[in-house]
Amino acid sequence: GGHGMGKSRTGAAGEDATLKVPVGTQVFDESGKVMLADLTEVGEKIMLAEGGRGGLGNEHFKSSTNRAPRRTVPGEAGVEMTLRLRLKLIADVGLLGLPNAGKSTFLSRVSRAKPKIADYPFTTLNPQLGIVLMSGQRSFVAADIPGLIEGASEGVGLGYQFLRHIERCRVLIHLIDGTEDDVGTNYKTIRGELDKYSSALEDKPEIIALNKCDALDKKTIAKKIKALKKISGAEVFQLSAVTGDGLNEILERAWIEVQGNIESEVEAKAPAPKDPKWSPL
Ligand code: GDP
Ligand code: MG
Repeated sequence: GGHGMGKSRTGAAGEDATLKVPVGTQVFDESGKVMLADLTEVGEKIMLAEGGRGGLGNEHFKSSTNRAPRRTVPGEAGVEMTLRLRLKLIADVGLLGLPNAGKSTFLSRVSRAKPKIADYPFTTLNPQLGIVLMSGQRSFVAADIPGLIEGASEGVGLGYQFLRHIERCRVLIHLIDGTEDDVGTNYKTIRGELDKYSSALEDKPEIIALNKCDALDKKTIAKKIKALKKISGAEVFQLSAVTGDGLNEILERAWIEVQGNIESEVEAKAPAPKDPKWSPL
């Protein structure tokens, strides 16, 4: 706040300093341990550090005995604090897989996002978001989560800092590179990292897809799908992110899972139904 001054001038209040952050930003104290705010909605606003009030001008000290006071009050300093901001993405669908599995290719194929694609690991340094548009005006947000590798949950590679993004996805699409020999082990490596990181990730709906099927013959595809089914106990889709074969089936399934997740969220938030037997009479 500005200083109060003579000639009846009150100090101006300090100007607001507004920091715009992306949706999904969490605000922590300096230690990084206490969360002060979790901004999950567009337009949400919070006040973190209150600015100083303006000082009182001389007018304030006028009295019957002192008609021309000289006293003024200096403006107050604003609250000062150090904060840590952490971004947790909010996407409906998260793309998972070892480096090179084809996550970026998948995202660029289903949305307008332009992630870097290359045949070496860790081409994606930042999580990328894309909006997937489907027929009937349906849409959802997909995130390309950069390569997870073994040990990611302990901080190896770039994986760990991105694991937390996965926490907020409703559904996971787990891509497995079909040109790799041991697809089962590759699947298990990622699952192992998720399970180690948090039990919240363990229970997320997962759609498993064998990618790069354009580079494989039918027999190999069948063999690898069988191996993945055995290890996951779940349905396994086949896909070529490059040609687009098999994409639609996966998107349709993702859509169903996302809707199911939204519904269960709404149910959880709704108040418990009233006891029908209860009556005020
Ligand atoms: P990411 O690390 O999971 O993001 O993988 P990228 O999307 O960067 O892809 C890694 C490499 O695999 C690139 O050279 C892609 O062109 C290739 N690739 C991705 N999807 C397919 C596919 O469906 N078929 C074939 N043949 N190659 C693919
Ligand atoms: Mg990538």
